[in-house]
Amino acid sequence: MRNRINLLLGRTAAMVAIAMLLVCVVSARWGVLWIRHGSNTWAEIDVGAVLVGWVTQSAAFAPSSIQLLHHDGWGWSGWKPRIESITSGGGIVSIPIWIPAILLAGLSLWLGQSRGQSHSPLCRTCGYNLTGNVSGICPECGRPIPPPRSKCRTPTPGRTVRNAPVPPA
Ligand SMILES: [Zn+2]
Repeated sequence: MRNRINLLLGRTAAMVAIAMLLVCVVSARWGVLWIRHGSNTWAEIDVGAVLVGWVTQSAAFAPSSIQLLHHDGWGWSGWKPRIESITSGGGIVSIPIWIPAILLAGLSLWLGQSRGQSHSPLCRTCGYNLTGNVSGICPECGRPIPPPRSKCRTPTPGRTVRNAPVPPA
């Protein structure tokens, strides 16, 4: 059961990580800006980052809207985390999207690895525990089970095995 949860979590993390990387790449060219006039804040997915900003002087602040931004080239200026305050009041917090994406990808790998360390054979499709399975088909998802790979390779005949005792000459 735990293995299935790990598998599911690992896959979800991997998919979210891929989605984030896609958003990161797309945002270098096309951004989205969301302005909330009432609260003097704005949020933006742009230049590979999620940016949140606020202003203290509301008079000239843009009206509430959602705007699509288009860059002529690829803008990656958001690759680095940054917190900035603006002299006229307010500030910007910029979080690069690649950071949570990499963290999730790492989590996914880690979950996959801890699954691999398990000694019981698991279905590669659904993670079902296949210990004692004789049918050769996963009872959970119906996928045929590949023959188990032996970790200890038997030495090929005709080849000398390293560390084998050398017969006295
Ligand atoms: Zn299965």
